[in-house]
Amino acid sequence: MRNLILITVIALNLISCQTSDKIEDIVVIGGGLMGSSTAWEISKYEQNVLLIELQDSVYTFGSSFGEARISRSLGPNEDIFSFLQQTSVKETKDLIDYLNEGETEILHSMEDIYRTSPVTYIYSKSQLNEVEELLDGQADNYEYAPNSVAAKEKFGMKISDTTMVIREYKQYSGTLNPKKLIGKLHQGIRKSGNRVQYNQKVTDLKKEDGLYKITINDTKTGISKTILSKKIVAAAGPYNGVLVKDVAPYFRNLISPKRLFLSFLKINPEKYDMLTAEQKNRFITSYPVAYLNSEIFYSMIEKFDNDQRPLLKVGGHFLRTEIKDLDEVWSIKLTEQEIQWSKENTVDYMQKLDLPIIASDLEFVKGYSCVYSLTESEIPYVSNAIENKVNIDSSFVLVGGMSGIGAKGSLAYGLIAADLILGYNKDSFMYQKTKSALGTERLIIDLKNIDK
Ligand SMILES: Cc1cc2nc3c(=O)[nH]c(=O)nc-3n(C[C@H](O)[C@H](O)[C@H](O)COP(=O)(O)OP(=O)(O)OC[C@H]3O[C@@H](n4cnc5c(N)ncnc54)[C@H](O)[C@@H]3O)c2cc1C
Repeated sequence: MRNLILITVIALNLISCQTSDKIEDIVVIGGGLMGSSTAWEISKYEQNVLLIELQDSVYTFGSSFGEARISRSLGPNEDIFSFLQQTSVKETKDLIDYLNEGETEILHSMEDIYRTSPVTYIYSKSQLNEVEELLDGQADNYEYAPNSVAAKEKFGMKISDTTMVIREYKQYSGTLNPKKLIGKLHQGIRKSGNRVQYNQKVTDLKKEDGLYKITINDTKTGISKTILSKKIVAAAGPYNGVLVKDVAPYFRNLISPKRLFLSFLKINPEKYDMLTAEQKNRFITSYPVAYLNSEIFYSMIEKFDNDQRPLLKVGGHFLRTEIKDLDEVWSIKLTEQEIQWSKENTVDYMQKLDLPIIASDLEFVKGYSCVYSLTESEIPYVSNAIENKVNIDSSFVLVGGMSGIGAKGSLAYGLIAADLILGYNKDSFMYQKTKSALGTERLIIDLKNIDK
């Protein structure tokens, strides 16, 4: 009997820890917007890649979770974030074309992902210099209301004279849907012959004899296996620090995850139905909005429900709190103050829009906690690893520290990550400027600063 138990235990251990003989070319870990974009861009270059994701195909958490993010292009001259957004739009068009290729009818369109809508920016007079710099030689289409009279005339808005409003009008500026985008990226990866695997949690990542040894647990079966890869892209969002602790431990000090809250509000049906067609139109075309005050209130239409009432998503870019447990943070409920803040700021915007909506007209539908991964400068990393503080390890790339700005540039971050891991380059001035702002040269400086 004892022998039988022993044999069973040994057999179970063997089954639960398999090692594959195959050596992968590139493994991307994390299938959020960044990992999926990177794996797609590698696929677009007709190279082999395996994308590994911890969650099932319908995600329930992660920084990319949800159905709306602001997509905006406006920025000062030679702004890297404008470049990232515009490049991502262009790359998304290529993805859509690729998915439609060989089909008898058009199955995919940009409108599945983007909802083009004016983007409203509210500034206070103290930010006049910033506004002037933003608008100086601005190539994107915009309207500007420097005072209350102009705001009434141009946007039907009622603002004080200490406030200024800019509205950006551009195709594919408005919102983008991360859920849809990730779905299409995975379709593109698969269509190219590459693989996306769900329910696969990387539990250990080491580099041995020039190869990456990746231990993966199948969260459905509980079975663990080890695979080998020549190259790695780490794109685990807020989990990047834990993931790369043995191969690039310094990223844990350079990227900090912080909790944010999101509220979802609706105008109650009686009140919404009482709005005139013009008021409804003013309401809908005034989202998304970013109020560039100290908290940066932002809001957008997540989606329209069955009775065509808009579901508003509301958050504060700088309303960040510490995280005790990364696995638990996603289920933390909103506090009464957070819900109150969301309603007050929405009502304040309704007043600016000259709409007759008060706090009691707003229904709190739901709320959830989400995570930003933050670097000190709030600029993301798309970087190789650095060995011994100076040597660039071209077999490893990390895409992370995306803060609250990553989504609009998703495929551009993916493109730069793909170029880095494949050793490709592009000459354009903006590409080079962006690559060095995000990349390895900057990491070397940041590492030196840690020591100071
Ligand atoms: C509240 C909020 C609002 C935002 N608003 C905007 C906006 O309006 N405009 C904008 O441009 N950007 C916005 N952003 C930023 C943007 O959404 C993020 O930059 C982007 O989603 C980050 O994607 P990611 O792939 O880096 O991370 P994630 O989406 O978190 O992806 C990481 C993935 O890795 C997986 N993973 C983790 N650990 C493992 C492991 N061990 N093994 C396997 N898989 C693993 C996770 O399941 C996850 O799917 C916002 C972000 C937040 C949080």
